[in-house]
Amino acid sequence: MPQQVPEFQFSDDALKLRQFIYEFWCEYGHGPNLRAAHEATGLSREQIVEAYKQLDLGIVCVVHQDTQNFNLLKCQPFSSYPSQVQVYLDGRFHCHAGCAMESVAISRMPPFAGKEVRLESYCACCLDPVTIVMRDGALLSRQPESALIHISSRPEEWNTTNIVSMCDSMNYVLDADHALAYEKKIARRGVLVRLDQAQRFVAEVAASRMWKYDYGPGYVQPDRIVAGLRVLGVDLSNWGL
Ligand SMILES: [Zn+2]
Repeated sequence: MPQQVPEFQFSDDALKLRQFIYEFWCEYGHGPNLRAAHEATGLSREQIVEAYKQLDLGIVCVVHQDTQNFNLLKCQPFSSYPSQVQVYLDGRFHCHAGCAMESVAISRMPPFAGKEVRLESYCACCLDPVTIVMRDGALLSRQPESALIHISSRPEEWNTTNIVSMCDSMNYVLDADHALAYEKKIARRGVLVRLDQAQRFVAEVAASRMWKYDYGPGYVQPDRIVAGLRVLGVDLSNWGL
């Protein structure tokens, strides 16, 4: 259960691999396999696998650790598999975002500087379209104006094995009524995050990712996450908080 992981530092190999993954994903819209990582970094299979274990533990990416090829499922803010948010660059599909929350951080990545990043998603309950346009971290437009992000898992549940189910529970909804309809479909309550609150929630990591080569691991500390959401003014009463 990788919550409350004691502080650690990424190795030089892990930092090198992380930088390469970000550059590769921003360019091609998908993650690299072991050979691409080896050719770009000079690291051996064993060194790459060890680096991936560190990056997974430090909430940079999710690798399928039972696989021999260390299948890369996610590298936040990106997803290898079709997710609830499609990312368009220059009018063309580029990649899938990790989740609704991660999607608002994507336009801050240095290779996308100055570009319009269009997020095409949908309401979790009725699948009606939600379109968000951002540039350099700023919100340019959203359709509908009432769109919100719904989080239907509590931080105590995040990253209990990995963050796949956490990301799965962070979805766009058309408005609070649609959030309530979705909650009935999944038999769960959730909290609602406005886009400006989401921008602030991801601001620190967005300002670090690729901007600071050696920034350290992330940690899932549920009490600190709850405190952070409170500071943003998110109503946590649906989580009983
Ligand atoms: Zn809906």
